[in-house]
Order: sequence, then C-alpha cells, then structure tokens
Amino acid sequence: MQDIDLKQYIRGIPDFPKPGILFYDISTLLRNADAWQLATARMARAVGPWQPDQLAAIESRGFLTAAPLATRLGCGIVMLRKPGKLPGDTISLSYDLEYGTDSLHIQADAIKPGQRVVVTDDLLATGGTLAASVALLRKAGADVVGASVLIELTALGGRNKLDVPVHSLLSYE
Ligand code: IMP
Repeated sequence: MQDIDLKQYIRGIPDFPKPGILFYDISTLLRNADAWQLATARMARAVGPWQPDQLAAIESRGFLTAAPLATRLGCGIVMLRKPGKLPGDTISLSYDLEYGTDSLHIQADAIKPGQRVVVTDDLLATGGTLAASVALLRKAGADVVGASVLIELTALGGRNKLDVPVHSLLSYE
C-alpha cells in the first residue's frame, strides 16, 4: 500500500453540481479503509512539523480530514461552521462566492490567544473558502501556521490567495 497512487481512488464527476463543472468526489477514497488510512497518514506526516495545537475543520468535508489528523497528531479540533450551527457566542466572517456571499462562524472562545492552528478542508479550488477561514481564525486570536487539503486544483491558483504554507496531498491541473 505504501507506494500506491491515491488518485486512483478519486472520481471526477462531470457536470456536478452544475453543467461545466468537474467535481472531484472523495467518497470513493473514504469508503476504502486502507486507502483512507494511507491518505490521512501522509497528510499527518506533512502537517506534523507545523506543530499545531488545534486543527480548524471547515464544514463539512473538512470535518472528515480534521478528525483523523487530530487523532494522529494529538491535537484538538475547532469547527468552522455555516450560520446558525454553533451554540454560544460566535465570531463570523462573510466572503464572496461566484454568485452571492457566504459566511463562516467559530465559537468566540474556541482559540486561546496565540494558539498554533492548521486549517483543513477536502479541496482547494479558488482559495476563497480557505482565505476566509484563515482571516476568521486570526480574528479569533489564532496563529495560523498552515493549511492542509487532500486535493488542490492548481490551475485555479487558490494558494496565491493564502499567506500561510499550504500542503496538498493530490493535485490536479
Ligand atoms: P474554493 O473556495 O473555490 O477554494 O472552493 C473550495 C470549497 O468548495 C471546499 O470547501 C470544497 O469542499 C468545495 N469544492 C469545490 N470544488 C469541489 C470539488 O470538485 N470536489 C469537492 N469539493 C469541492
């Protein structure tokens, strides 16, 4: 399993969620226990040297990458969620989408000042979601030390929107 190319477990689905979009589907990776173990082990190896105190998980597929990484690295998880999901005081940040805006929220007491945080999601495309997440985490007092994604769509240049180191396990043009 060690020298296996994990791309064989990722499916590209044309015209989802709308015509003209090629959607990279990680379901086929998740449902293969050995492949998912290997993917998360490789991600953890890359993130470990950043020595995070917390992993910040972007709703919803970022929850899937954060959980095994946090367990492997021995750090906590804080959730970045869509509106109306988190109890108690929250801090939020709105960001632009292709059409309209969206917002992410974090519990106001989630981060102790200066904690080292690595933000994680399944996929980096234009970088809007990760850039907003980094800004929100800083607003909450975090020292954001990196971003970790399973897949990067390099042609969209998303990493140029980020001023933290980015690790992607698999990249596509
Ligand atoms: P960005 O903000 O343009 O970088 O888009 C990244 C966000 O959109 C992530 O939260 C992804 O989960 C989601 N996303 C965009 N394209 C895909 C895809 O092809 N497969 C899975 N998720 C995607």
